[in-house]
Amino acid sequence: MDETTYWKGGSGKPHVLILGSNFGGLTAARFIREQSKDAVDITVIDRKPYLIFIPNIPLEVFANNDPVEKLHMPFYKFLKEDKTVFLQAEVTDIDIESKAVTVIPSERPGAASEKVKYDYLVIALGAKLDYAALPGFSEYGHTVSDSYYGNKLRRYLFGGNYKGGPIAIGTARFTMGKKGRPDWIPDMTSACEGPPLEISLGLTSLLEAKKWGSAKNITLFTQGKYIAEDAGVPLVKEFLGMAVDKMGMTYMPDTIDIKEITKDGIEFANGKSVEAELKIVLPNWTAHDFLKKLPIVDEVGFVVTDLKMRNPDHPEIMAVGDCAAITAPKLGGIGDMQARIVAQQIAKDLGVLHLDDDEQEMTFKPVVMCFGDMGHHKAFYIHSDLIYGGNTGIMKMGYKYYAMKMGFKEAYFALGGKTPGWGVKLTELLGDK
Ligand SMILES: Cc1cc2nc3c(=O)[nH]c(=O)nc-3n(C[C@H](O)[C@H](O)[C@H](O)COP(=O)(O)OP(=O)(O)OC[C@H]3O[C@@H](n4cnc5c(N)ncnc54)[C@H](O)[C@@H]3O)c2cc1C
Repeated sequence: MDETTYWKGGSGKPHVLILGSNFGGLTAARFIREQSKDAVDITVIDRKPYLIFIPNIPLEVFANNDPVEKLHMPFYKFLKEDKTVFLQAEVTDIDIESKAVTVIPSERPGAASEKVKYDYLVIALGAKLDYAALPGFSEYGHTVSDSYYGNKLRRYLFGGNYKGGPIAIGTARFTMGKKGRPDWIPDMTSACEGPPLEISLGLTSLLEAKKWGSAKNITLFTQGKYIAEDAGVPLVKEFLGMAVDKMGMTYMPDTIDIKEITKDGIEFANGKSVEAELKIVLPNWTAHDFLKKLPIVDEVGFVVTDLKMRNPDHPEIMAVGDCAAITAPKLGGIGDMQARIVAQQIAKDLGVLHLDDDEQEMTFKPVVMCFGDMGHHKAFYIHSDLIYGGNTGIMKMGYKYYAMKMGFKEAYFALGGKTPGWGVKLTELLGDK
């Protein structure tokens, strides 16, 4: 294999190499430039030249809008403004000893592999959403985690294929590693379980508008006792009171895992099954295969970091977003917080940033923060750290939260990911219920 060390960053300054340019990677790139100014060369690598605004896929699909048109954000111009180099390539390996990453240019097939050297490496490659491991998914399953699958569901719903039958919505079981994970981040049985709540409410609104049915068509299922338990049990109970007791959805807890998706429904690992014409599922979030063999990862392949997002054995290697072991649940908002920590760490190392007494060194202190579409131009807003032993547990619903969800996406696109913050705490003051 022809592997040459082709790129070291350009000017000879410390070279920060960022792998991945969706929520975690793009935010890291932009804040590293802001904090470290011209003290570094920065290179970003992604296999595609645009960001997908994943959280809004369900609502665009249920509005019969194409996510490619609405939710793809080309990021090149923002990186160019920042004097950050972009390489469109597939990352296939990391050589930790020689501080080099192996890449294959991905714009056209057949390219030869090359090496890119780094002084700092920020891994922001997300996770592999393992649909391939779900028996029956390709024949009978639907989902909303990218534009391809979002459009497949959109064509199914709006192309006259849905016959008004039962609908099952839920996730497959998530497996976490333990290495390096603080004990206040508990085991979670689902990687990201806000989407099923949002999908169930958004879909209910569509069923009613089209006179295809109602919330009674829907079964929500989960591996453990409470769906979206990462939001905190009191908030989940409030949600279930609304969705199940008032609206009439069926709730199926303790499924343990999805065993098989069939033409007629879903079979679960606990021996039970649900009948469903439409099966909307999210799979296990797994680590990328090439990461699994590296010494910087936990038992399942997610990158081990401390609370400053640095690998304890190789502090020049950092991780942000879904690929980091301590990101649980897997939320873009959590990756955003981590990206800001990484930017501060690098600027501090280089002596560009001097923290005074008022300015604290940032450390990872997660909160679960999300806006979920409810249909009818309403959304719910969750801000909670209950799963980590904290005492903040806020859930609000109303028209303003929908406006804020949509407004956040517009701000994100206008600012190229460099928003003042992922969640807007002001919403807690402003919201109706
Ligand atoms: C339906 C749905 C709704 C969601 N809603 C919310 C929400 O409301 N709030 C929230 O906070 N989170 C939400 N999430 C979770 C959120 O989408 C993820 O946490 C977030 O996308 C993770 O960002 P990331 O940058 O770490 O990884 P990703 O977004 O997965 O990005 C990884 C990037 O790396 C690139 N890449 C991967 N492998 C390679 C490779 N080998 N070579 C080159 N490039 C590569 C990819 O092209 C991609 O650009 C939702 C998820 C889903 C599925």
